[in-house]
Amino acid sequence: MSIQVSTDHFVYAMDKENKPAVTIQSGDQVVIDTYDCFENQIQSETMPIDELDWDRINPATGPLYVEEAEPGDILKVHIDNIELGERGVMLTGPELGVMGHRMTEFQAKIIPIQDNEAIFNEKLKLPLNPMIGVIGVAPEGEGINCGTPGAHGGNMDTKLVTTGATLYFPVFHKGALFSLGDLHAAMGDGEISVSGIEIPAKVTATVEVVKGQSIDYPFLQNEEGLAVLVSKKTLDEAVDTAVELMIDYLHPQTDLTLSELTMLMSAVGQVQVSQVVDPLKTARFFIPKNVLEAYNINVFS
Ligand code: CA
Ligand code: ZN
Repeated sequence: MSIQVSTDHFVYAMDKENKPAVTIQSGDQVVIDTYDCFENQIQSETMPIDELDWDRINPATGPLYVEEAEPGDILKVHIDNIELGERGVMLTGPELGVMGHRMTEFQAKIIPIQDNEAIFNEKLKLPLNPMIGVIGVAPEGEGINCGTPGAHGGNMDTKLVTTGATLYFPVFHKGALFSLGDLHAAMGDGEISVSGIEIPAKVTATVEVVKGQSIDYPFLQNEEGLAVLVSKKTLDEAVDTAVELMIDYLHPQTDLTLSELTMLMSAVGQVQVSQVVDPLKTARFFIPKNVLEAYNINVFS
Protein backbone atom coordinates (compact mmCIF):
# COMPACT_ATOMS: atom_id res chain seq x y z
CA MET A 1 0.00 0.00 0.00
CA SER A 2 1.47 3.32 -0.95
CA ILE A 3 1.24 6.45 1.16
CA GLN A 4 -0.64 9.38 -0.37
CA VAL A 5 0.64 12.94 0.09
CA SER A 6 -1.72 15.67 -1.14
CA THR A 7 -1.02 19.29 -2.10
CA ASP A 8 -2.46 20.29 1.29
CA HIS A 9 1.12 20.02 2.53
CA PHE A 10 3.73 22.02 0.67
CA VAL A 11 6.69 24.31 1.27
CA TYR A 12 8.31 27.23 -0.57
CA ALA A 13 11.70 26.48 0.95
CA MET A 14 13.53 23.30 1.90
CA ASP A 15 14.34 23.89 5.53
CA LYS A 16 15.20 21.81 8.60
CA GLU A 17 12.54 23.80 10.49
CA ASN A 18 9.67 22.60 8.26
CA LYS A 19 7.08 20.48 10.00
CA PRO A 20 6.73 17.05 8.36
CA ALA A 21 3.61 16.46 6.27
CA VAL A 22 3.90 12.74 6.89
CA THR A 23 6.27 10.22 8.47
CA ILE A 24 7.33 7.23 6.38
CA GLN A 25 9.73 4.31 6.71
CA SER A 26 12.62 3.26 4.53
CA GLY A 27 11.21 1.17 1.68
CA ASP A 28 7.81 2.87 1.58
CA GLN A 29 6.23 3.82 -1.71
CA VAL A 30 4.65 7.27 -1.80
CA VAL A 31 2.24 8.93 -4.24
CA ILE A 32 2.80 12.69 -4.18
CA ASP A 33 0.45 15.24 -5.76
CA THR A 34 2.06 18.45 -6.94
CA TYR A 35 0.99 21.92 -8.06
CA ASP A 36 2.68 23.41 -11.08
CA CYS A 37 5.50 25.86 -10.31
CA PHE A 38 3.04 28.78 -10.32
CA GLU A 39 0.83 26.98 -7.77
CA ASN A 40 -1.71 26.62 -10.61
CA GLN A 41 -2.28 30.40 -10.63
CA ILE A 42 -2.07 30.79 -14.43
CA GLN A 43 -5.29 29.43 -15.87
CA SER A 44 -5.48 31.51 -19.06
CA GLU A 45 -3.10 33.20 -21.50
CA THR A 46 -4.91 36.51 -20.97
CA MET A 47 -4.45 36.60 -17.19
CA PRO A 48 -2.66 39.90 -16.38
CA ILE A 49 0.73 38.84 -15.08
CA ASP A 50 0.67 41.57 -12.42
CA GLU A 51 -2.03 39.43 -10.80
CA LEU A 52 0.49 36.62 -10.40
CA ASP A 53 1.66 36.31 -6.79
CA TRP A 54 5.42 35.78 -7.14
CA ASP A 55 5.61 34.70 -3.51
CA ARG A 56 3.68 31.57 -4.45
CA ILE A 57 6.28 30.07 -6.79
CA ASN A 58 7.77 26.58 -6.83
CA PRO A 59 5.70 24.92 -4.10
CA ALA A 60 7.15 21.49 -3.27
CA THR A 61 4.83 18.92 -1.73
CA GLY A 62 6.01 17.60 1.64
CA PRO A 63 8.23 17.36 3.50
CA LEU A 64 8.32 13.63 4.18
CA TYR A 65 10.09 12.59 7.38
CA VAL A 66 11.89 9.29 6.76
CA GLU A 67 12.22 7.53 10.11
CA GLU A 68 15.57 5.79 9.61
CA ALA A 69 17.37 8.74 7.98
CA GLU A 70 20.25 10.26 9.97
CA PRO A 71 22.78 12.94 9.01
CA GLY A 72 25.53 11.38 6.87
CA ASP A 73 23.24 8.76 5.31
CA ILE A 74 22.07 8.70 1.71
CA LEU A 75 18.41 9.03 0.77
CA LYS A 76 17.67 6.84 -2.26
CA VAL A 77 14.57 7.82 -4.26
CA HIS A 78 13.40 5.71 -7.20
CA ILE A 79 10.89 7.41 -9.51
CA ASP A 80 8.30 4.73 -10.25
CA ASN A 81 5.83 6.78 -12.24
CA ILE A 82 4.85 10.31 -13.28
CA GLU A 83 1.25 11.07 -14.19
CA LEU A 84 0.83 14.49 -15.79
CA GLY A 85 -2.16 16.83 -15.57
CA GLU A 86 -4.20 17.77 -18.65
CA ARG A 87 -2.44 20.95 -19.60
CA GLY A 88 0.79 22.77 -19.07
CA VAL A 89 1.77 26.42 -18.99
CA MET A 90 4.92 28.31 -19.97
CA LEU A 91 6.00 31.83 -19.10
CA THR A 92 8.74 34.20 -20.09
CA GLY A 93 9.34 37.93 -19.83
CA PRO A 94 11.71 40.73 -18.83
CA GLU A 95 14.69 39.59 -16.71
CA LEU A 96 13.69 35.96 -17.06
CA GLY A 97 15.96 33.41 -18.67
CA VAL A 98 18.56 33.82 -21.40
CA MET A 99 16.38 36.10 -23.59
CA GLY A 100 14.89 38.18 -20.78
CA HIS A 101 16.95 41.27 -21.66
CA ARG A 102 15.13 41.42 -25.01
CA MET A 103 11.60 41.00 -23.64
CA THR A 104 9.37 43.99 -22.91
CA GLU A 105 6.39 42.11 -21.53
CA PHE A 106 5.43 38.85 -19.90
CA GLN A 107 3.77 36.20 -21.97
CA ALA A 108 2.07 33.06 -20.73
CA LYS A 109 1.22 30.14 -22.98
CA ILE A 110 -1.20 27.34 -22.18
CA ILE A 111 -0.13 24.01 -23.67
CA PRO A 112 -2.73 21.21 -23.73
CA ILE A 113 -1.51 17.64 -23.34
CA GLN A 114 -3.31 15.25 -25.68
CA ASP A 115 -2.53 11.65 -26.66
CA ASN A 116 0.90 11.78 -25.05
CA GLU A 117 1.95 14.92 -26.87
CA ALA A 118 2.18 18.59 -25.91
CA ILE A 119 0.20 20.73 -28.37
CA PHE A 120 2.47 23.77 -28.89
CA ASN A 121 0.42 25.08 -31.83
CA GLU A 122 -1.42 23.78 -34.92
CA LYS A 123 1.88 22.96 -36.62
CA LEU A 124 3.83 21.49 -33.76
CA LYS A 125 3.10 18.67 -31.33
CA LEU A 126 5.99 17.99 -28.99
CA PRO A 127 6.98 14.61 -27.53
CA LEU A 128 6.62 14.49 -23.76
CA ASN A 129 9.57 14.21 -21.43
CA PRO A 130 7.86 14.18 -18.03
CA MET A 131 10.40 15.25 -15.38
CA ILE A 132 10.70 16.64 -11.88
CA GLY A 133 12.22 20.14 -11.57
CA VAL A 134 12.36 20.48 -7.78
CA ILE A 135 13.34 17.50 -5.63
CA GLY A 136 15.48 17.27 -2.54
CA VAL A 137 16.00 17.25 1.20
CA ALA A 138 16.43 19.89 3.90
CA PRO A 139 19.81 21.58 3.31
CA GLU A 140 22.62 21.61 5.84
CA GLY A 141 22.38 25.21 7.10
CA GLU A 142 19.69 27.83 6.60
CA GLY A 143 16.62 27.00 4.54
CA ILE A 144 16.91 27.39 0.75
CA ASN A 145 13.92 28.53 -1.33
CA CYS A 146 12.55 25.97 -3.76
CA GLY A 147 13.68 28.07 -6.75
CA THR A 148 17.35 27.49 -5.93
CA PRO A 149 19.31 24.24 -6.40
CA GLY A 150 22.23 23.04 -4.29
CA ALA A 151 23.91 20.12 -2.56
CA HIS A 152 20.50 19.21 -1.13
CA GLY A 153 18.91 18.98 -4.61
CA GLY A 154 16.17 21.59 -4.93
CA ASN A 155 15.48 23.29 -8.26
CA MET A 156 17.97 21.25 -10.31
CA ASP A 157 15.72 21.27 -13.42
CA THR A 158 17.46 18.20 -14.81
CA LYS A 159 15.63 16.30 -17.51
CA LEU A 160 17.08 12.96 -16.37
CA VAL A 161 14.91 13.19 -13.22
CA THR A 162 12.19 11.06 -14.74
CA THR A 163 10.44 7.69 -14.47
CA GLY A 164 12.93 4.86 -13.98
CA ALA A 165 15.66 7.07 -12.53
CA THR A 166 17.05 6.57 -9.02
CA LEU A 167 18.27 9.65 -7.18
CA TYR A 168 20.68 9.69 -4.24
CA PHE A 169 20.69 12.69 -1.89
CA PRO A 170 22.96 13.52 1.03
CA VAL A 171 21.01 13.47 4.31
CA PHE A 172 21.78 16.54 6.48
CA HIS A 173 19.11 16.22 9.17
CA LYS A 174 17.25 13.50 11.01
CA GLY A 175 14.31 12.38 8.89
CA ALA A 176 15.86 13.94 5.76
CA LEU A 177 12.68 16.04 5.12
CA PHE A 178 12.20 15.10 1.48
CA SER A 179 9.92 17.04 -0.86
CA LEU A 180 9.30 17.50 -4.58
CA GLY A 181 7.36 19.64 -7.06
CA ASP A 182 7.75 21.70 -10.26
CA LEU A 183 6.95 18.96 -12.78
CA HIS A 184 7.53 19.55 -16.48
CA ALA A 185 5.74 17.82 -19.36
CA ALA A 186 8.84 18.57 -21.41
CA MET A 187 12.01 20.65 -21.06
CA GLY A 188 15.23 20.96 -23.01
CA ASP A 189 18.68 21.06 -21.44
CA GLY A 190 19.24 24.63 -20.23
CA GLU A 191 15.56 25.56 -19.68
CA ILE A 192 16.47 28.77 -21.48
CA SER A 193 13.16 30.68 -21.14
CA VAL A 194 13.13 30.00 -17.35
CA SER A 195 10.19 27.58 -17.62
CA GLY A 196 9.63 24.11 -18.93
CA ILE A 197 6.11 23.05 -19.84
CA GLU A 198 4.98 23.54 -16.23
CA ILE A 199 2.25 21.16 -15.11
CA PRO A 200 0.54 19.68 -12.05
CA ALA A 201 1.26 15.98 -11.60
CA LYS A 202 1.16 12.87 -9.48
CA VAL A 203 4.54 11.28 -8.73
CA THR A 204 4.96 7.73 -7.44
CA ALA A 205 8.32 7.08 -5.79
CA THR A 206 9.97 4.54 -3.51
CA VAL A 207 12.13 6.02 -0.75
CA GLU A 208 14.95 4.16 1.01
CA VAL A 209 17.74 5.03 3.41
CA VAL A 210 21.29 3.86 2.62
CA LYS A 211 23.61 3.63 5.65
CA GLY A 212 27.38 3.64 5.78
CA GLN A 213 28.08 5.81 2.72
CA SER A 214 28.00 9.58 2.24
CA ILE A 215 27.87 11.94 -0.73
CA ASP A 216 28.37 15.68 -1.15
CA TYR A 217 25.94 16.25 -4.05
CA PRO A 218 23.02 14.34 -5.59
CA PHE A 219 23.76 11.40 -7.88
CA LEU A 220 21.34 9.91 -10.41
CA GLN A 221 21.35 6.42 -11.89
CA ASN A 222 19.32 5.27 -14.87
CA GLU A 223 19.33 2.50 -17.50
CA GLU A 224 22.24 4.17 -19.29
CA GLY A 225 24.58 4.98 -16.45
CA LEU A 226 25.39 7.27 -13.54
CA ALA A 227 25.48 11.05 -13.20
CA VAL A 228 26.39 13.50 -10.47
CA LEU A 229 24.38 16.75 -10.41
CA VAL A 230 26.21 19.85 -9.20
CA SER A 231 24.86 23.40 -8.81
CA LYS A 232 27.23 26.37 -8.51
CA LYS A 233 27.38 30.10 -9.23
CA THR A 234 28.80 29.37 -12.69
CA LEU A 235 28.56 26.42 -15.08
CA ASP A 236 32.38 26.26 -15.12
CA GLU A 237 32.52 25.59 -11.39
CA ALA A 238 29.61 23.16 -11.56
CA VAL A 239 31.32 21.15 -14.33
CA ASP A 240 34.69 21.01 -12.56
CA THR A 241 33.15 19.87 -9.29
CA ALA A 242 30.96 17.26 -11.01
CA VAL A 243 33.94 15.72 -12.81
CA GLU A 244 36.02 15.59 -9.62
CA LEU A 245 33.19 14.11 -7.55
CA MET A 246 32.64 11.33 -10.09
CA ILE A 247 36.36 10.55 -10.27
CA ASP A 248 36.63 10.53 -6.46
CA TYR A 249 33.65 8.18 -6.27
CA LEU A 250 35.03 5.73 -8.85
CA HIS A 251 38.73 5.80 -8.04
CA PRO A 252 38.80 3.67 -4.85
CA GLN A 253 36.58 1.10 -6.56
CA THR A 254 38.94 0.54 -9.50
CA ASP A 255 42.58 -0.53 -9.92
CA LEU A 256 43.28 2.44 -12.19
CA THR A 257 45.79 5.20 -11.47
CA LEU A 258 44.33 8.69 -11.26
CA SER A 259 45.79 9.43 -14.71
CA GLU A 260 44.28 6.29 -16.24
CA LEU A 261 40.88 6.97 -14.69
CA THR A 262 41.01 10.58 -15.89
CA MET A 263 41.75 9.37 -19.43
CA LEU A 264 38.88 6.88 -19.20
CA MET A 265 36.56 9.66 -18.07
CA SER A 266 37.76 11.81 -20.94
CA ALA A 267 37.03 8.99 -23.39
CA VAL A 268 33.51 8.08 -22.22
CA GLY A 269 32.28 10.65 -19.65
CA GLN A 270 29.83 13.33 -20.75
CA VAL A 271 29.71 16.86 -19.39
CA GLN A 272 26.07 17.90 -19.72
CA VAL A 273 24.13 21.09 -18.91
CA SER A 274 20.96 20.78 -16.83
CA GLN A 275 19.86 24.41 -16.48
CA VAL A 276 21.35 27.89 -16.93
CA VAL A 277 18.50 30.09 -15.61
CA ASP A 278 18.17 29.51 -11.86
CA PRO A 279 20.07 31.40 -9.09
CA LEU A 280 22.78 28.69 -9.28
CA LYS A 281 23.53 26.81 -12.53
CA THR A 282 23.33 23.03 -12.68
CA ALA A 283 25.65 20.77 -14.68
CA ARG A 284 26.10 17.03 -14.59
CA PHE A 285 28.84 14.55 -15.41
CA PHE A 286 27.52 11.28 -16.81
CA ILE A 287 29.30 7.96 -17.25
CA PRO A 288 27.97 4.91 -19.13
CA LYS A 289 27.02 1.81 -17.15
CA ASN A 290 29.62 -0.45 -18.79
CA VAL A 291 32.27 1.32 -16.70
CA LEU A 292 30.32 0.40 -13.54
CA GLU A 293 29.87 -3.17 -14.75
CA ALA A 294 33.55 -3.62 -15.65
CA TYR A 295 34.55 -2.85 -12.06
CA ASN A 296 31.53 -4.48 -10.35
CA ILE A 297 30.46 -1.16 -8.87
CA ASN A 298 27.05 -1.40 -7.22
CA VAL A 299 26.02 2.20 -6.77
CA PHE A 300 25.26 3.10 -3.14
CA SER A 301 23.75 -0.27 -2.23
CA1 CA B 1 12.29 24.74 -12.01
ZN1 ZN C 1 9.41 24.30 -13.58
